[in-house]
Amino acid sequence: MTQTGFIASLMIALVLLNTQSSSALLRAGASSRIITPQSSAYLAGLRNNRLSQGVHDDLFARCLILDDGQTRVGFVSTDLIGLTSSAIAEIRNRATLIGSSAENVIITSTHQHSGPDTIGLWGESESHSGVDPDYTDFLYNQIASAIKDASENLELAEISFGASQIEESDRVSRNVREPDLIDRELGVIKVDRTNGETIATMVNFTAHPEIMWSDSLLLTAEYPGVVYRECDEKIGGITLFINGALGGMITTNNQFNTFEEVERIGGIVAQKAVEAAESAEKQVNPKIQHSFKTLEIPLENQQFQALMNLGILPKEMPVNGNIHTEVHLIEIGNAQIATFPGEVLPKLGFRIKNSMTTDYNFILGLANDELGYILATEDYSKELYEYEKSMSIGSQIGSITTNALLDLLGK
Ligand SMILES: [Zn+2]
Repeated sequence: MTQTGFIASLMIALVLLNTQSSSALLRAGASSRIITPQSSAYLAGLRNNRLSQGVHDDLFARCLILDDGQTRVGFVSTDLIGLTSSAIAEIRNRATLIGSSAENVIITSTHQHSGPDTIGLWGESESHSGVDPDYTDFLYNQIASAIKDASENLELAEISFGASQIEESDRVSRNVREPDLIDRELGVIKVDRTNGETIATMVNFTAHPEIMWSDSLLLTAEYPGVVYRECDEKIGGITLFINGALGGMITTNNQFNTFEEVERIGGIVAQKAVEAAESAEKQVNPKIQHSFKTLEIPLENQQFQALMNLGILPKEMPVNGNIHTEVHLIEIGNAQIATFPGEVLPKLGFRIKNSMTTDYNFILGLANDELGYILATEDYSKELYEYEKSMSIGSQIGSITTNALLDLLGK
């Protein structure tokens, strides 16, 4: 070999080496664990004293972990009404105890209203917490184990993003406060093995799962349960469901409070998710970027304060009159994913989505916290939102969370 030839091959070798180290190899893992209570539970939402009398279908904690060699993030969806930051902290502790980490994992609740009380508001009466400590112990262990399972299953993966619209005429979702203010987009994040088999699909759509009403006493994952069943079968892998900007008041557009309606609405959401997954855009050498902010928000709601003092709501929430919470921004390839610590109203969801610069935009609600409704400052005192105000920590949560996310987005 001539000296020029040697230098040329050395340069090619260096270029190859450089390409390999700079093109991060994405790895992913997914898992699913059942979190259905094994005995009767007070059902959360709608009214007090709904003691469950059986199981219609199982509740799940489903986890997807993504790792590009530099940054690891994860998502968990749980079939629960909500998990506050104190629950998230304890789940993180337990993940650490079993040799895993939940530090960069976004733990969300679908906000369904036919699952166990995990907050405390729906016990036998308003002055009795509906939380069962034995169930809580089981639940936190199952979620921590789901995170460990997925983290230990990492394999080479490809990621794609897709979207579709669910129109008003499909009668799936509606805004009962301001009918035209509603996010009808369904987004998917699909992760495949290099042989094309699906590892997991995360479905992001917006509507309270509350088709089964206050007289129903069966545990059910509700319409997200239909989405898991249908998408697991038609797409393969493990399906997650994460709700969006569902506050004030995005609910399902059902005619009856029946399991037929749960099947109809869940079936349409699943079908649209399958379509979005089929046309999803594959990302080339995607990098993961993760940023977050911890926030202090004044607790103005005296009723919440009184319930905390009684031990009905988690007591450790306020510190010096402020509640500590967090928002996250995850960027992967052509997607931006923002999280809110509660039930954000669609106006604020749109404010963030419209500030994103990627083609695929996701708002994850009830993420790493459930602080009730997150209203825009200008809507907080409107009579239209009297109910949401009563279930919100105060007038500043909307502006503080939204401004923090705009900051993370560089706006
Ligand atoms: Zn709600």
